[in-house]
Amino acid sequence: LVPTTARYLAQAEEFGAHNYHPLPVVVAEAFGAWVTDVDGRRYLDCLAAYSALNFGHGHPVLVDAAKAQLDRVTLTSRAFHNDRLGPFLEGLAKLAGKQLVLPMNTGAEAVESAIKVARAWGYRVKGVEHDRAKIIVADGNFHGRTTTIISFSNDPEARADFGPYTPGFVSVPYGDAAALAAALDDDVVAVLLEPIQGEAGIIIPPDDYLPAVRRLTRDAGVLFIADEIQSGLGRTGATFQCDNAGVIPDLYLLGKALGGGIVPVSAVVGDAEVLGVLRPGEHGSTFGGNPLAAAVGLAVVGLLESGEYQRRAARLGVQLRERLDALLGRGVVAVRSAGLWAGIDIDPALATGRRVAELLAERGVLAKDTHGSTIRLAPPLVIEPSELDWAVDQLEAVLLEL
Ligand code: PLP
Repeated sequence: LVPTTARYLAQAEEFGAHNYHPLPVVVAEAFGAWVTDVDGRRYLDCLAAYSALNFGHGHPVLVDAAKAQLDRVTLTSRAFHNDRLGPFLEGLAKLAGKQLVLPMNTGAEAVESAIKVARAWGYRVKGVEHDRAKIIVADGNFHGRTTTIISFSNDPEARADFGPYTPGFVSVPYGDAAALAAALDDDVVAVLLEPIQGEAGIIIPPDDYLPAVRRLTRDAGVLFIADEIQSGLGRTGATFQCDNAGVIPDLYLLGKALGGGIVPVSAVVGDAEVLGVLRPGEHGSTFGGNPLAAAVGLAVVGLLESGEYQRRAARLGVQLRERLDALLGRGVVAVRSAGLWAGIDIDPALATGRRVAELLAERGVLAKDTHGSTIRLAPPLVIEPSELDWAVDQLEAVLLEL
C-alpha cells in the first residue's frame, strides 16, 4: 500500500470503533459508477453503498437539488412546516400508490417505525389484547442494527452479547408459505419480510411465495410489511420488488437510495387506515422530513417517475446474468440475481468471499462479500454495458488466479 492510503487506514484503525472490516481502499472522489482513491487509483463501484447509490455518485439532478436547498433552508424540525416536505410526501405517496408517508432518516428507523405502527394498529384497529402483539419475521432476515431489530435476527454476530432482547417476534423459514400459515394466530399483527433477502446473500423466494404471503395475511387480517430498503427503488428492474412479484403490501419500508446517496432518507409508506393510527406526539424524529432530505428525496422520486432507471436495471440485469451464468462450474457454484443485483457463491474450497473481494479491488472492482463465500454485485444503475462486462471480466480473471 502506498503511504497515503496507509496513513488513512492507520488513523481509522487507531481512532475508529472497530465495528467494520472494510477493504483497504480510501475513497477521495467519485462520479457515476467510478470512485477514485487518495492515491489516484480508479475503481468501478459494484456495491453502490449497498444500493444507496442506485443513481450513481454525484448524479447531477440530485446534486443540484441538494445544492439549491443548502442555500435556502436545511432544517426546521417538525415543530414547523417546510416547503419541500409536502411535495416530497405527495410525490412518494403517488409513486408508491399509497395515501400516506412517514419520513424518517435511516433504514433501521423506518423498520422501527413500522413495528410501532403495526403494534398500535393491532391494538386500536384489529383489537389484539394489550402487549400481546406478535410480528412474524423470516429466518436469515436483515432489517438493521437497533436492539429491537437484532432481537429477531438469527445471525449470532448481530445478536450475541446485545441482549436482553425485545419480545413479540416469531421467526419462520424464509420462502415457506406453509410455515408462515402455521405461525398465524389471533395475536399476530404483521408479517415483516424482505421481498428478496439482501444481506443473507440475495436470497430469492419461490415465485408463489410473496403472492401466498399476501393472500394469507389478507385472509388473517394481518399487515404485510415489505422491507424494500435494499430491494426497492429500481434495483430489481421495478420500482419495488413487490411489483415484480405482483403483490401490494400494506406498508413499504424505503431507505438507502431514497436519499440519493447524499443524505439519509427513509420512509414508511402506506394507506391511511394503517399509517393513520399514529397521533400527534406519539412518534417522530428531529431530522425526519427535513427540507434538505425532502428536496433530495423529491428529486429521487422524480428520477423514478419515468421508469427509465427501472428499465435500465432490468436490461443490464439480463446481461449480467448471462455473463455470471457462464462462470458456473468455473469457480462459481451458484448465481442468484434480480435486475442489477446478484449474489455469486464462490466455491468455498477455492476462496472466501472476502479474499475474492480483495482480489477484485486489486483489479479495480469494488464489491463486497456477504456471508461466507458469497459476493454481492449491486453496481449503480447508471453503469454502462461495457463497464458491466469489464467488471465480470475481472471476476473471471480472479477466479483463474484462485
Ligand atoms: N432493511 C434492509 C433490507 C437493509 O438491507 C438494511 C441495510 O442494509 C436496513 C434495513 C437498515 O438500513 P440502515 O443501515 O440505513 O439502518
